[in-house]
Amino acid sequence: MGKSLSQYRIDLPPDEIPDHWYNILADLPEPLPPPQDPDNGRRLELLKRVIPSEPLRLESSTERFIKMPEEVRERYLQVGRPTPLIRARRFEEYLNAPVKIYLKMEGYTYTGSHKVNSALAWVYYALKDGANLVTTETGAGQWGAAVALAAALFKVKAHVFMVRASYNAKPLRRFQMQMYGAEVHASPSELTEFGRKLLRENPNHPGSLGVAITEAAEYALSNNGKYVVGSVINTDIMFKTIAGLEAKKQLELIGEDPDVMIGVVGGGSNWAGAFYPFMGDELRSGKVRRRYIAVGASEVPKVTRGVYKYDDPDTGRVLPQLKMYTIGSDFIPPPIYAGGLRYHAVAPTLSYLMNKGYVEGRDYDQDTVFKMAQVFAQVEGYIPAPETAHTLPIIKEIADEAKRTGESKVILVSFSGHGLLDLGNFADVLGFGKTQ
Ligand SMILES: *Cc1c(COP(=O)(O)O)cnc(C)c1O
Repeated sequence: MGKSLSQYRIDLPPDEIPDHWYNILADLPEPLPPPQDPDNGRRLELLKRVIPSEPLRLESSTERFIKMPEEVRERYLQVGRPTPLIRARRFEEYLNAPVKIYLKMEGYTYTGSHKVNSALAWVYYALKDGANLVTTETGAGQWGAAVALAAALFKVKAHVFMVRASYNAKPLRRFQMQMYGAEVHASPSELTEFGRKLLRENPNHPGSLGVAITEAAEYALSNNGKYVVGSVINTDIMFKTIAGLEAKKQLELIGEDPDVMIGVVGGGSNWAGAFYPFMGDELRSGKVRRRYIAVGASEVPKVTRGVYKYDDPDTGRVLPQLKMYTIGSDFIPPPIYAGGLRYHAVAPTLSYLMNKGYVEGRDYDQDTVFKMAQVFAQVEGYIPAPETAHTLPIIKEIADEAKRTGESKVILVSFSGHGLLDLGNFADVLGFGKTQ
């Protein structure tokens, strides 16, 4: 008899999908610094009008567990949850070190990333408020695709404002959204006052996430819709904890307890979603003993060189300011392919935990990351998203250290998405030659 294969791929049966989300605010040692409004309450007022009411209420809730509506739970099943936990043993073999690497495979969902974990909840709550239209922004397109899918499943209309530069560069993501019936607008657009103003100033405005956020909020307000938020804020992160709650059950099934947690940070939602359920236990026990590592892109060095202060979450400056690690809301990120990592700041809860010294920051440049992604694809057979691939260099460093010291490590990785719609980007950086 060979070794049981069930230690290499850990699946949960459908009934084991968690029936609540986890809220880290219940377990922080002190209250999170609150949002600030430099415009005398106008920004907070806008937020109240434009996002669905239950997520707004949950944003400052300190309830530890939030009951999941059955309509959402059932759709989690539909879109590919529970996702498997997979041991990357060929990659372990390649690293040749005493490490066990477990990947929480969020790329197994229908849109190919963790984003659908919160999109379903947001759209459900918008519908509960009586809205039949939701709006949002998208950069690389993964969040937009998740909202488009969620809107289709709840029979709500979705309008997605896609950063013009990505709209032109990533037609496949746009087609994915259109396949689900969403309206996709290149931002800045002619549909909003803010967009029209920017286009008058510069007809070739490339757009930015900040601009798209402002447009999406304005469009929702003037069309009786609700605006939904794909990262950064507490509620979105809470919705994403379904991944970490599943991973906890999966690790318990095989009796593993990870020493090191690794994930990438755009706004911080896949990271927090995967690891807050674990970190919450440690915070409650009064001792954080695991290593938690947040990885970013060196081209957007907020986790290594950001400053912890109040800053705007959007360039349009319509949303309340949050205390976060930031490199400035005016920072124009270089056009790296890991679009999901181009955001200028880190979620307030994760920033707080970084500031307390519970989370280390690391970053890696695109060339290093893409070369490792190719190695990984060849040994494991799985093509990670450019964002997700940023976890690979630090895994190798930890493996090398384990080899040196002889001390074995169990690593849990938030494997946020697959890269099948990003192959053009890999081709470009790795030099596969022109497609036409
Ligand atoms: C959006 C995205 C990210 C970054 O966003 P977070 O909110 O930090 O999770 C990371 N990986 C993938 C695949 C993404 O789509």
